[in-house]
Amino acid sequence: MTPRILFLDHVGVLGGGELSLLDIARHFAAGSRVLLFEDGPFRDRLEAAGVVVEVVTAPASVSRVRRAGGTMQALRGLPGVLKLARAVARRARSYDLLYANSQKAFIVAALAGRWTRRPVVWHLRDLLDAAHFGNTQRRVVVGLANRWAACVLANSEATATAFVEAGGRAEIARVVHNGIAPEDFVEVDRAGVEALRDSLGLRGAPVVGVFSRLAAWKGQHVLLDALASLPEVHALLVGTALFEEEAYAAALRRRAEAPGLAGRVHFLGFRDDIPALLHLVDVVAHTSTAPEPFGRVVVEGMLAGRPVVATRAGGVLEIIDDGMTGLLLAPGDAGALARALHDLLASPEKARRIAAAGQAVALERFSLSRMLEQIERHIEEVLNAIK
Ligand code: UDP
Repeated sequence: MTPRILFLDHVGVLGGGELSLLDIARHFAAGSRVLLFEDGPFRDRLEAAGVVVEVVTAPASVSRVRRAGGTMQALRGLPGVLKLARAVARRARSYDLLYANSQKAFIVAALAGRWTRRPVVWHLRDLLDAAHFGNTQRRVVVGLANRWAACVLANSEATATAFVEAGGRAEIARVVHNGIAPEDFVEVDRAGVEALRDSLGLRGAPVVGVFSRLAAWKGQHVLLDALASLPEVHALLVGTALFEEEAYAAALRRRAEAPGLAGRVHFLGFRDDIPALLHLVDVVAHTSTAPEPFGRVVVEGMLAGRPVVATRAGGVLEIIDDGMTGLLLAPGDAGALARALHDLLASPEKARRIAAAGQAVALERFSLSRMLEQIERHIEEVLNAIK
């Protein structure tokens, strides 16, 4: 029987975790519901996919709790968390299982699951290391997981390892790599891509793309630094500042206006035609300066048959075999990025070989069907354990 799942996510914007949950919630849509703690475009996308959605807005004190926030901030958020947990608990009795897709959602789910005796699965999409999160937040989420999570689905080995290194119990962690629907990325309408190229004024120009929200640790500035020594090359920066990184986005825009770069950096904002844009570029650059938990864009670039140059850290190491299915560089090394881009643009044969090998691996190892099968199996395991 299809399990009835109450999915929880604290944001309404479309980050990688939300796009992944969209696929998962669509798969389990019958009898399930997604509860969001904030309204936004994620709700529209879920509803368009036939998923029942409800928004229970988080009190401001909860929204204000930040990744690096200390104990005081966490304590101020506590009454709001309890309020949300009560709201979730009221609904939880109609479901077999609570499935949290983010850290804040997990904290709320852990309490609600405890009160209603519903098992809680936490889909962990963050690297719980000091580069990304403060000690308080890590201690709280890992402590709750150890006591009350039936299972932690980590989106990479790197994420699972960081969870265990932060004190998490290895017995509850399972690695489930992100899976992506290949049909969206492998083939696209060529004429549409050419029209897009013309509309951006890029006919005949070599183009590199970064497909990530604008955020300091996503490292778009590293590509701008690299571009300074690649005078012919244009860059597409696809994505917007999702989580209060407007100051970084503004600094990028100023930098892109500097002599030598002006006219070659194209800020496209948040787009929902990523497959066409991937097919437009010659190389996909992934420039994160801190370890990436997984890196959907890396797989998407590979599926689209583009050579991918990525940062050698985190989950990306589980996706790219350096020199074979992509190129890996030290985080933040603009000189190495410039050399790798020059190399791929000057050697189309090499670029094609890497892209073809990357596409084959992405199709085989990161398919959506594989991810959904794994999640189904883990959910079944959790539900069987409480029978
Ligand atoms: N993305 C998008 N529109 C944009 C920029 C990015 O739909 O303008 C998508 C991208 O295709 C990928 C996701 O956002 O599926 C980003 O996921 P990733 O794991 O790379 O990073 P995260 O946002 O989870 O840190």
